[in-house]
Amino acid sequence: MLTCDEYLTPTSLDEAFAAMAAHRGRHRLIAGGTDILPWAREGRAGDVDVPVLIDITRISELTERKVAAGRVRVGAATPIQRFLDDKAIATAMPCMPRCAIWFADDQIREQATIGGNLANASPAADGVPPLLAHAAGVELASKRDGRLMRRLLPLNKFILGSGKTALADDEIMIAIECDALPGYGGSFEKVGHRRSLVISVVCLAGLVKLDASRRRFEDVRLALGGVCPVPQRLTEVENFLRGAAIDSGRLERAAAMPLDFVQSRTRREYRREVVHGFVMRGLINALRRAGADADVLKPELEAAYA
Ligand SMILES: Cc1cc2nc3c(=O)[nH]c(=O)nc-3n(C[C@H](O)[C@H](O)[C@H](O)COP(=O)(O)OP(=O)(O)OC[C@H]3O[C@@H](n4cnc5c(N)ncnc54)[C@H](O)[C@@H]3O)c2cc1C
Repeated sequence: MLTCDEYLTPTSLDEAFAAMAAHRGRHRLIAGGTDILPWAREGRAGDVDVPVLIDITRISELTERKVAAGRVRVGAATPIQRFLDDKAIATAMPCMPRCAIWFADDQIREQATIGGNLANASPAADGVPPLLAHAAGVELASKRDGRLMRRLLPLNKFILGSGKTALADDEIMIAIECDALPGYGGSFEKVGHRRSLVISVVCLAGLVKLDASRRRFEDVRLALGGVCPVPQRLTEVENFLRGAAIDSGRLERAAAMPLDFVQSRTRREYRREVVHGFVMRGLINALRRAGADADVLKPELEAAYA
């Protein structure tokens, strides 16, 4: 069980940093609590007493969302559900609604935040691959010598390993910023040990933009999670497909490329098979949603990976 002596609910960054300074070394930040609470349970971390919990979800800047000038900015305390029901965000981030629909259940999606998902840095965190595909960065803030300091780190420099991030003790994650990609087809493929409330064994985010002929890739972005300590962009596969004509042989060759990424010690062969199938399915689904010409995306190919 998680216990605390004080549960603070600051409504501004100033108040939050003042609370952090006053309780340095004795506090922990909490957002939705959907990672912290199960962690502080018998069998995992056991009983945990944190003297001061600082709930950052009432700070308005942490729940703001904006799409402007080709960029998306989403507050770190944005619940996962908003990626499904905020139309502007869903349009600008075509694989996020598909990620959100597979994320836990209705109750957890309202509670769990995107910032908590990134800060927890689980290899299986579903939010990471789509954000990597969107070339996301995280904005971190601290108050040092009375001055508010902000820094923007690319997501792949923020997550350093399983459960490890570049977040300093005196920092709060404020927002996530990424490319707005309206017009791309998006996909999110996920498999776990059971269908509902599943933690990913493998997940893949895909984004595809077609050229004017609708028969050729203009841009491709793919990211894989669950099979290595830190989710990865599949840049080699992306480069192999970018600018190429869409044909099943090229898709199959692309799907065979990332198999060496699978570092998991358990069920390695199974995961490699899943990765192959997910790259195919992720690309096919993203191509269909991007509006690929029916001649190049044959029904039998779609059926084989449905
Ligand atoms: C039943 C269930 C199902 C789940 N299903 C999924 C799933 O399908 N996919 C998936 O990826 N995860 C899943 N999870 C895990 C969890 O819901 C997510 O990782 C969630 O996004 C965590 O967000 P949170 O706001 O609840 O984090 P919290 O538990 O509040 O915090 C997690 C960590 O992040 C830190 N933190 C939070 N916000 C900030 C911030 N702004 N700045 C700095 N540090 C911060 C906290 O200090 C803590 O260390 C599930 C959990 C449960 C209980």
